[in-house]
Amino acid sequence: MDVSNFDIQEILEGYRKQSFLPSEVVSAYLDVIQSENPKYNALMPVPTERVMETAKAWDARKNEMSRLPLFGVPVVLKDNFLVDGWKTTAGSKMLENYVAPYTATSVNRLEQAGAIVIAKANMDEFAMGSSSENSAYGVVRNPWDLTRVPGGSSGGSAAAVAAGLAPVALGTDTGGSIRQPASFCGIVGMKPTYGRVSRYGVIAFASSLDQVGPLTRTVWDSARMLEVMAGYHGRDATASRRVVPQFTDQLANVSLKNLKIGVCPDWQVNVDPEVDKALQESIALLKSEGARIVEIDLPNVKYAVSAYYLIAPSEASSNLGRYDGVHVGYSVTDASSGKSLYEANRGEGFGPEVKRRIMLGTYALSAGYYDAFYGRANEIRALIKQDFDGAFDLCDCILSPTAPTTAFGLGEKTKDPLQMYLSDIFTLPANLAGLPGISLPCGSGSNRLPIGLQFIGKPFDESLLFQVGQCFERLRGGFSGTTPREGSR
Ligand code: GLN
Repeated sequence: MDVSNFDIQEILEGYRKQSFLPSEVVSAYLDVIQSENPKYNALMPVPTERVMETAKAWDARKNEMSRLPLFGVPVVLKDNFLVDGWKTTAGSKMLENYVAPYTATSVNRLEQAGAIVIAKANMDEFAMGSSSENSAYGVVRNPWDLTRVPGGSSGGSAAAVAAGLAPVALGTDTGGSIRQPASFCGIVGMKPTYGRVSRYGVIAFASSLDQVGPLTRTVWDSARMLEVMAGYHGRDATASRRVVPQFTDQLANVSLKNLKIGVCPDWQVNVDPEVDKALQESIALLKSEGARIVEIDLPNVKYAVSAYYLIAPSEASSNLGRYDGVHVGYSVTDASSGKSLYEANRGEGFGPEVKRRIMLGTYALSAGYYDAFYGRANEIRALIKQDFDGAFDLCDCILSPTAPTTAFGLGEKTKDPLQMYLSDIFTLPANLAGLPGISLPCGSGSNRLPIGLQFIGKPFDESLLFQVGQCFERLRGGFSGTTPREGSR
């Protein structure tokens, strides 16, 4: 069975028609993973026996198919989601032997809906990065071009879906880590509104920004994943009590007529000409379907990179304080004193980017500098939020590129962290303002490298993003359907 082009709808349809059973689908994916993953290094080693056992248990429950929205759907998880009894490294040597004692709520909900976790995905260490080059377990390669990065930090998840190693994956997005790799790999990535999905059981990076979301081949699949995962949860104080719509029910017969789409020209400077061209073509397409383009002003988004790279490291420095190798994490065997034990554990357990963030964050939070750095960054954050509130008086959603370029070369930006940070200019503002954003494939540039387009919505208005996304996908063609295997060099 060739599973490499499956999406959720096709898998569900196959079960309904009794063309195959969950264990057959899962076993076919495990075969693909075994033969193809070494090229991309997208996935962590798979506990095959455990996965097959779970899949077989679902074979026996096929009479429940009609009530389970993800019956027998194989899912990959970024390696910062806890799964009971399953190794969870967050891409760090610090957690190389860490086995999770319980399962993340988002994952639990997927499993209760019939999903089968088949693998964990490689990622930038503790989700810090934009290229998936910061993993202790090796770099991830872009399936469209093995000399390029897949984006990050959910690069393993995105590469796995694009390469057909899984139909769907979960990622986390603190400053763009779902949307930017989706854009680099030519798939759909959705970051929901802050608080839409419980963060319980997800390894924290920056708690006021982190959000869980799906990476998929189609907009419908994205909507299905989110409607299953989202919703209130008592163990995450920031999980919203808002009612979760059945997003997939809202996708039929949508029209763009009179939809007001905001575009901010001042934000879109320094964009690669290829990306700009794809954006302009997309705008023309949206207009031809009746959408109205409205010019908006977001005067403070130009400070988003500066504000984010103070707030996120500050929160990270505090969240990562727990990894001392005594309570949790990597531990050296010999140390002469308590202090040298901590130094050795943290010095050896963390990689260079994580250390850089901890130092930045500790500095920004230290007495005497707190107001000047952390405090000021939070003021900017409030201004950015206000900018969006004002813009949404004029439009229903906002359009931008997802990233200023297509996938860059491996090693191209690793020597210059600032260049790497600048690649997040279009994604960070939605996190700072807590807004939902979706990245959709909108074409390709030279060498068939995918280009992504981002729609940002009002708080809790994922419905509109899915509807616009569905229309756009119909017009533009969406995921190319060609597995990159044929296209990669
Ligand atoms: N690239 C950003 C960073 O390194 C965002 C990462 C993320 O969203 N997890 O912080």
